[in-house]
Amino acid sequence: MTGIAVLGCTGSVGRQTLDVIRQFKDKFRVTALVCGSDAETLLYQAEEFKPDFVGIADPEKADILKSLSYKCDVFAGADAQRIAAALPGTDLVVAAVVGLSGLTGVISAINAGKKIALANKETLVACGSYVTRLAKEKGVEIFPVDSEHSAVYQCLLCGRAQDLKRIILTASGGPFFGAKSLEELKSVTPEQAVKHPNWSMGKKISVDSATMMNKGLEIIEARWLFGTTDIDYVIQRGSIIHSMVEFNDGSVIAQIAPPDMKLPISYALGYPERLPSQNGKFDFSVPITFEKPNEKVFPLPKYARQAMLAGGTAPAALNAANEAAVKLFLDGKIAFTDILRLVEHILNSEKTSSYTDYREIMELHSRIYDGIIRDYARILGY
Ligand code: MG
Repeated sequence: MTGIAVLGCTGSVGRQTLDVIRQFKDKFRVTALVCGSDAETLLYQAEEFKPDFVGIADPEKADILKSLSYKCDVFAGADAQRIAAALPGTDLVVAAVVGLSGLTGVISAINAGKKIALANKETLVACGSYVTRLAKEKGVEIFPVDSEHSAVYQCLLCGRAQDLKRIILTASGGPFFGAKSLEELKSVTPEQAVKHPNWSMGKKISVDSATMMNKGLEIIEARWLFGTTDIDYVIQRGSIIHSMVEFNDGSVIAQIAPPDMKLPISYALGYPERLPSQNGKFDFSVPITFEKPNEKVFPLPKYARQAMLAGGTAPAALNAANEAAVKLFLDGKIAFTDILRLVEHILNSEKTSSYTDYREIMELHSRIYDGIIRDYARILGY
């Protein structure tokens, strides 16, 4: 029986993780459930899975947790994910909090020696050198849940690490693929941006997918998970090929499956076992095509690659700018194309330096994030 703590349990990946656990109750037991502020969903999930620990980051929701019908530890406050990640009965921590706020849970899990199923890409993007060094020190495995990285992990099993030529991530292109100019995207609404053609995902990642920043973040995430900077990406509109690796002999290995997050989740939970899916046999009537990315209209992956190669605090600055800009866009305060402008502003004004501790990254993140939330109108010349 694997004891699983789910951090970010009320979000898209968190809920799908519980769907997988529900299906394999003989293998998995939920030890902890933690969310940000959705107390109603959390209570409902806790009543079903009866974890030992129930936590919520929002301290104002503390009273609601008292209505649980069974006895367990409850905690309301920012420390909830840190405590949950280190519980003695937990073997595996599913890190599915959105944004850099998921970092403390990941670090706590590593320090407690727990295996991590990582769905929170921002943690590796902003703080990858620290997190991967700490995981190595503690002998902790960080297993990818992101569908592209799960695919790369599977493809890499076909050859030796030293024979790898490059990683090729696939991108759906998002809802606005084919746009010829930024002008065309000016009046895009949050409702349009979160409507992804293939995947059902949370709002933040859906907007990242629409701007293509998601692929940029995933390039940096892949760099830390797989230890190479030879990472390209190609548009595969149907999201059927989830990513590929190319070996020195010219062989390209791809992982193919319908776009369903439950597959990478169940692979991370069950590895090395492959848990049976209810999806039936693969449907080959769907055509598989490739297209070239348009980095003139969607330059964010290019900027992310530059930040990756610059190293140090550069990816954290890029990520902080993006997190703030996406929030402003979802709140209806800025235009879709202003996300790009705000990220460019930070890339042009922030100096890259080296860092040694994750707290430096958290400080830099808050400074840039809060600065953009406060000054966006001035920066954009509104
Ligand atoms: Mg992905």
